Amino acid sequence: MCALQAEKKIVARILILCAMVLGCQPSQEAGGQTPDGDRARLPLVVVIALDGVRPEEAFGPIASNPSPFDVGQNAPVMPYLTRQLPQTGFMFGAPEDGPALTLANPMGISMPGYHSMFMGRATFCVSNECSPPYGQNFFERVQEYHSLPDEAVAIYTSWKALCPALNPSEAFDGHCGQDAVDQQWRAFFESGLDGAKWSPPKEPDDAIFEIAMERLQAPTFQVLFLAFDGSDATGHANDYPGHIETLKKFDRWIQAIDEQLRKLEQGGQPTVLLVTTDHGRGEGELWSEHRWNVPGTGKLWLFVRGPEGLEAKRQPFGDPLTVATVRPTLEVLMQVPHVSGWPYERPAITIQENQTQSPPLGK
Ligand SMILES: [Zn+2]
Repeated sequence: MCALQAEKKIVARILILCAMVLGCQPSQEAGGQTPDGDRARLPLVVVIALDGVRPEEAFGPIASNPSPFDVGQNAPVMPYLTRQLPQTGFMFGAPEDGPALTLANPMGISMPGYHSMFMGRATFCVSNECSPPYGQNFFERVQEYHSLPDEAVAIYTSWKALCPALNPSEAFDGHCGQDAVDQQWRAFFESGLDGAKWSPPKEPDDAIFEIAMERLQAPTFQVLFLAFDGSDATGHANDYPGHIETLKKFDRWIQAIDEQLRKLEQGGQPTVLLVTTDHGRGEGELWSEHRWNVPGTGKLWLFVRGPEGLEAKRQPFGDPLTVATVRPTLEVLMQVPHVSGWPYERPAITIQENQTQSPPLGK
């Protein structure tokens, strides 16, 4: 590396630190857009995060790469996510196919990953206990821009820490961890204890999926964020068969959610679906771990599709995208002028009106 390059790198690191610590004010992109107040024209957005899911399993079959974890898995583990969905949108981070996706914050653990997603940049967060980041997150931004009521932003996650991180003012319809299970109980009691309507969920992931499916029947939300962490739990427990079963369950849930979104589309309601993970995991025997110095942790993936009738184009970037592209990509789809300029990530896609009404949003 020549001296000039080294110097540039040092300056870049100082600027990153400045942005992370001081929250340097970025320039707002002059989008020339104004909120039109017409919520019907906005898409319903569902964002799903599967905690700590490696591309190796998501895009399996596992037996294609014999390993100590060979569980006789010859069929795709997540066929809907990795085979069906990419036909209608864009997949990033698929092994040996298409653009890569990596971490924004190098720590390789959950909270920095979720910060990155919804701030659109790496934040100064190095543990799972860090404070909410400086500045507006995606949910706060989209609520303010479109003047959405509090209940229009719904956050349901099995990890308790995500509500304080993403909903610091407790303004949104947010239920995380045991509170999500309790919320399901409350709904059960409010329904008059109709046992036919509900069976006790075994764990928060199940409660969250059930709440999500209820919300999707007659949506009052504009943005729904779901984060399932059963995959990280089976990972840390080194329970590979259990991990695979969890991913298969998640794939069925993604299919159910997507099919319901499709029904809403047929009824004239545009929808958006984005599915991703907050960090990867180690390679080989280290699959149960993830952090900055475990190789493989930086391999992520992301799927996104927009409403039918809008033509999306994948941005041709030379560098791998980072998971911080979640925010600007969602802002493009939600018609919110996104924060531009370094260190903010660029959107993964752009969209434009499809005049010809020919093929639905896709490759
Ligand atoms: Zn973990």
